[in-house]
Amino acid sequence: MLFDPAYLRDRIRTVPDWPEPGVQFRDITPLLQDPKSLRVLVEHFVFRYMDQKIDLVAGIDARGFIIGSILAHQLGLGFVPIRKKGKLPFTTIAEEYELEYGSATVEVHADACKQGDRVLLIDDLIATGGTMMAGRKLLERLGATVVEGCAIVDLPELGGSQLLRDSGLPLFTLVDFAGH
Ligand code: AMP
Repeated sequence: MLFDPAYLRDRIRTVPDWPEPGVQFRDITPLLQDPKSLRVLVEHFVFRYMDQKIDLVAGIDARGFIIGSILAHQLGLGFVPIRKKGKLPFTTIAEEYELEYGSATVEVHADACKQGDRVLLIDDLIATGGTMMAGRKLLERLGATVVEGCAIVDLPELGGSQLLRDSGLPLFTLVDFAGH
């Protein structure tokens, strides 16, 4: 670590019972808003990935777009959005996954990457891991290799990060929070 992760952790706001009772929402907007913590955050990721062989950064809707596109630019790479269902205008492929209540679908453009591309997949937070797993499947269906999944926050008690690692996906996160 370049910096004490507490520096970032202290700038993530916890909003209890949002968007529904029982959820502790980990709000990264204060982290993004402060110029110093935004820079520290980006530098952490740049430091880790600048020497790796990566062709593309894929970010997950919507907070994965913010940090993912800054990172792509810093690494001199292109950026691909993995979006919630119905948002992408061109031909898409889709992956449905289970939520605690119901299901969700993510989509990517069919020409977002090509066979053999080495892609870095990024989101703001890993909870159950379902979203990142679905994003990974989309990229792999297009023939890409997901070299690593990364996120700012891990909620380890929800088991998603373990699930992703057990499935063979290397994972890098900066800050842990206990509980949901
Ligand atoms: P999951 O698929 O369960 O790993 O959920 C991860 C996705 O849902 C990420 O895109 C997060 O932005 C969002 N998310 C889930 N739980 C939280 C939470 N407690 N605080 C903030 N975002 C969350």
